[in-house]
Amino acid sequence: MSTTASRAQITSLNVTFLGTASAQPSSTRNHSALALRLGSDVWLFDCGEATQHQLQKSSVKMGKIEKIFITHTHGDHIFGIIPLMASLLNGAGGMTEGGDDPRLNVDTETAALEIYGPLGTRAYIRNGLYYTHTRLGLSYVVHELRFSTDPATEDYTALAPQNAECSFGRNIVEMGGSWQDIYKDKIVAVSAAPIHHSVPCIGYVVTEAPVPGKIDPAKYVPELRRTKTPMSVMSRLQQGESITLGDGTVLHGPPRRIGRKIVILGDTYDPSPIASLAEGADLLIHEATNAHLPGIDPNTKDVDTYESVEERAKSRGHSTPQMAGTFAKRVGARKLILNHFSSRYPGDDSDESKVIMGAIAQLAASEYGREVVCARDLMSLDVGISEK
Ligand SMILES: [Zn+2]
Ligand SMILES: [Zn+2]
Repeated sequence: MSTTASRAQITSLNVTFLGTASAQPSSTRNHSALALRLGSDVWLFDCGEATQHQLQKSSVKMGKIEKIFITHTHGDHIFGIIPLMASLLNGAGGMTEGGDDPRLNVDTETAALEIYGPLGTRAYIRNGLYYTHTRLGLSYVVHELRFSTDPATEDYTALAPQNAECSFGRNIVEMGGSWQDIYKDKIVAVSAAPIHHSVPCIGYVVTEAPVPGKIDPAKYVPELRRTKTPMSVMSRLQQGESITLGDGTVLHGPPRRIGRKIVILGDTYDPSPIASLAEGADLLIHEATNAHLPGIDPNTKDVDTYESVEERAKSRGHSTPQMAGTFAKRVGARKLILNHFSSRYPGDDSDESKVIMGAIAQLAASEYGREVVCARDLMSLDVGISEK
């Protein structure tokens, strides 16, 4: 079966938040999902309930999803994956054993949808498809990131794979505290590491390979004209190559620039194990489920203090804005966006929401030392190449 085709240089790198709620979704915040657009290719990170509906409301094209990365198997991060797969992979209600269903012939020419997640992801999907009699017309594969404490081979299910599940799904073993290059092509690579939560949870780091430098034509064109060299060599110079001209002069293309790094964390009360991989991130996405906002959040209890709120957040596996800000500062992130908010914190346009979310951003900024943004559903932003 075919895998992902070679990728073109990424023209734009865009992040769209499809869901920013924690445990309970609300009318203004859906369960967790995030789309990363690499040019026109789409990678999803988590796939909470109703992610399909959020995709339809956004400008992200569902048909362009080539990979899905699951941070952990809590329902608010994975409940939406089976209906999404049914739509994306040409699925429909099947018949019982022996029925003559044309979808039993899976198209193996089209690249398989690649899914990455912790132990249990493969079993959850296989069982969900099986017990809903969902037959897929296109194939998928699940690669599991196995923690050092996980069994190396078992799948957590006695069900055999169905036709649409490719047999080349890997079990990727944690090595030296991380999973390096779980995916890599010439343009982009993904590594991952465990982060502390109430269940096994993964943070993902997407790193772009060095990108061509900025070219100044005035530096090259006169030399090319003088030596009657075809202007077409400009494209090679742009790629950083060196060109020897007819008279022996050597022109050097501009040096390549460091590519972009995006760090997408799942739920966590302490992401320290991913700190070294996350170093120098251009964008860090960190949860901030609970905050202490006396005088701003009317639901604040009199007995609460920042310390008690932090203690409660940690005991449930989550972070406060200050914890997120501290981590962003520690890894030297260029930008911090918070997500995964308690249903107490709405994500609409009302003045009340703006005041609360502004205060949450401020709490994170007090530790981070830079401006912080609180994500809202369908918020979308481009990540630029830094001139560092
Ligand atoms: Zn969650
Ligand atoms: Zn969780």
